Amino acid sequence: MNNIPTVMILFGGSGDLAHRKIYPALFNLYRRNVIRDNFAVIGTARRPWSHEYLREQVAAAVHESIPDVDEAQLTEFAGHFYYQSHDVTNVEHYVTLKRLAQELDERYECGGNRIFYMAMAPSFFGTIAEHIADQHLTGSGFNRLVVEKPFGTDLASAEVLNRQIQSSFAEDQVFRIDHYLGKEMVQNILPLRFGNSLIKKVWNADMVKNVQVTLAERLGVEARGGYYDNSGALRDMVQNHILQIITLLAMPEPKDLSDKAIHAAKEDLLASLRVPGEQAVRDNFVRGQYLGTENTFEYVKEPNVAEDSKTETYVAGRVEFGRGPLAGVPIYFRTGKEMREKKTRVDLVLKNEPGLYGDKAQADTITIEIDPANQIYFRLNGKTIAGSDLRPEKLRYRFSENEQAEVPDGYERLIHDVFVNDSTNFTKWEELKRYWEFVDAIEAAWQEENAAGGKPVKYRPYCMGPDTSKIFADPKDGWIYQ
Ligand code: NAD
Repeated sequence: MNNIPTVMILFGGSGDLAHRKIYPALFNLYRRNVIRDNFAVIGTARRPWSHEYLREQVAAAVHESIPDVDEAQLTEFAGHFYYQSHDVTNVEHYVTLKRLAQELDERYECGGNRIFYMAMAPSFFGTIAEHIADQHLTGSGFNRLVVEKPFGTDLASAEVLNRQIQSSFAEDQVFRIDHYLGKEMVQNILPLRFGNSLIKKVWNADMVKNVQVTLAERLGVEARGGYYDNSGALRDMVQNHILQIITLLAMPEPKDLSDKAIHAAKEDLLASLRVPGEQAVRDNFVRGQYLGTENTFEYVKEPNVAEDSKTETYVAGRVEFGRGPLAGVPIYFRTGKEMREKKTRVDLVLKNEPGLYGDKAQADTITIEIDPANQIYFRLNGKTIAGSDLRPEKLRYRFSENEQAEVPDGYERLIHDVFVNDSTNFTKWEELKRYWEFVDAIEAAWQEENAAGGKPVKYRPYCMGPDTSKIFADPKDGWIYQ
């Protein structure tokens, strides 16, 4: 679809996300003609910027992210941006915003279509949603709402936010962003599972011993200590990215490839997600907190972090489902800050069939590398050329350098999907609700532990985190990626 007529209202137009991700993504969509003549963007934030200043910022943001920009095209693109100084809590400002949106709608012939993008502190999402409703900001064409993460801080707050949003938007108009769903290899999980009969045949509880998901970050909390200390790894990474990846790995085959069918398959799986009780949390989850080095702070010494903080910067655990092809198969995950290297990957460990070659034919693994490389590989055994010993080789699915350069940024892909109304790679409310139920149960058990003097275990930074051996169902198992 080309030249989709839209007025986009971006709350948080002076923010980091808008600068680093949203403006470059919109420019690429402009270059691809997804948006062209009939679009306008209203950037809003508190600062008293002018239209001209916003346009300069947009151009600077594009230059910082995209090489080889056609200057005339960039100027033309930036000309579609308008700035509205706006305090989200001031009702009057919504009236002005509505008037500007209507004016631009007429000027650019946008047919009453609106995309509202909430790219600011999550504590404002509810207020904005309510004012969109009470000041009737929605247009006479299509109306879509893009919401950044985190969507609530627990199930109760997510429910409140969802009700506020429902005052103006139906569920099929809401696009909850999880930028991991925009990643190339995350989007390759369904083609891998359902586009290869060989893989499809082994992707089940008879053949799979366990699944391992690692999402390791090299960085610490940096300047985000204040935010992070109220969140922690469980809410920041597991509630969204890790559980979404796990859902894609374990869901049953959807009826077809439509967004509705894919979400139906996810919901079917999630209805059987086993929410752990206190004992299961003690047995199957580990939380950690990083120590310092000569040059880096221990977590509790980071700026804006409480000295007695019990917030986890690392969490590992076990997820199980009662339905789907991997019903009953342990799915292990871990995520942490200040780990040895930045890496996101999935390892699917197959059961070892005792056979002619005994232990020499080690457990086979299918690996999906999501970050920093984009690749899938598994091991195939042949024989050494001169002898009869086993010779393992990796079979890889990967991109050439040129192809790699063509992989779009996750944000570009997801914003494109909002324009074309494809909700496949966004989080639906029913999914989110289950994720919060799971996370809240773990959080509640940890609060109990804290009250009894418990706390996260300390781990050495820039290694692979604390001892997690207790979470493995079979003590002989361990992480494939060490
Ligand atoms: P930011 O602090 O850089 O920007 C916040 C924006 O909100 C600014 O434009 C600011 O002027 C505006 N704002 C603040 N208070 C306001 C008020 N009262 N009225 C009007 N405007 C106000 O934040 P960010 O890093 O851009 O993050 C925005 C959202 O995106 C958050 O939900 C965050 O979790 C999410 N997110 C950010 C990133 C990232 O890389 N920055 C990545 C993933 C998700």
